Amino acid sequence: MPCLFTSRLVNGATGDPGLYCEMTGQRRGLLFDLGDVTALMPRELLRVSHAFVSHTHMDHFAGFDHLLRVVLGRQPRLVLMGGPGFVDRLGHKLAAYTWNLVHNYEVALDIEAHEFRPEGRRRRALFSSRDRFERTQDEEADWDGDLLHDEDQFRVRGRFVDHGIPVLAFALEEKARVAVNMARLQAAGFTTGAWLRELKSAVLAGAPGATPIEVRWTDRGGEHVRRRTVDELRPLVLDERPGRCIGYVTDLCGSEADARVLAELLRGVDQLHIECVFLDADRAHAERKHHLTARRAGEIARLVGARELVPFHFSPRYEGRSEALRDEAMRVWRAD
Ligand SMILES: [Zn+2]
Ligand SMILES: [Zn+2]
Repeated sequence: MPCLFTSRLVNGATGDPGLYCEMTGQRRGLLFDLGDVTALMPRELLRVSHAFVSHTHMDHFAGFDHLLRVVLGRQPRLVLMGGPGFVDRLGHKLAAYTWNLVHNYEVALDIEAHEFRPEGRRRRALFSSRDRFERTQDEEADWDGDLLHDEDQFRVRGRFVDHGIPVLAFALEEKARVAVNMARLQAAGFTTGAWLRELKSAVLAGAPGATPIEVRWTDRGGEHVRRRTVDELRPLVLDERPGRCIGYVTDLCGSEADARVLAELLRGVDQLHIECVFLDADRAHAERKHHLTARRAGEIARLVGARELVPFHFSPRYEGRSEALRDEAMRVWRAD
């Protein structure tokens, strides 16, 4: 069964941090961080429905302009999420340009901005090309827990770690995945059809077991229609697997408090992308910059029980010595 998302670091382990996650076969992608994203092809940027920004240091946010340039006039909607001050910062970025012509564009662009704050508040605002990207529908509400975004097939959670400023660490959680078992389907006498899609989305959406599905199939005897419930069909024709979790953690000092937060957010994470900015030998420097050493990243990966570790955000000072960073993180993560 293919994974729901395939993920890749936008600029590899060096260069501006960023993770592109594409939904298999769905022409849709998510971005974590918006630094230099020119390494992504325009068709990939056009697929981005949601971008999650850990914090607004330039190497994580300067690429918003490029993304906007590509999608403007071509895509109707873009959702952006970030931490404290995010709505204002996005407003400032948009206010830097002249927009006297955009309200005439055939495809109007709505940018929906969501801001989350450690004190348990959230803010949402709309910037539309129809209104020359003036801020509208600005509203605040309480924010309980760590859910940033939720839909049928996946959710994204975020929690704050400490980088001198609050920074969002992310967990992209695929919901349980299902696939049709063709052998069992045939053995039950059914043929494929739209009902299978309906059954799969009902299961993924957590619909009640009694939800009716109209099973239609055709054989030599003609067309048949039978009403069955989700609970009856599920064990008969579906293979189910728990969803994978992908973690994206960058720009943090890695204090004990950070480690506790990440253990809650990412316990048992399948694939952990975590910054490894400095070597342990340069620990004093890492502390001044509120960044992780590769060793600390390895410790955190081990603590949360990561199954796969993907180190990134290497400092340019180690150019040509990337392996040293990678080895340091991997050694600690795998230590028995
Ligand atoms: Zn950074
Ligand atoms: Zn930073």
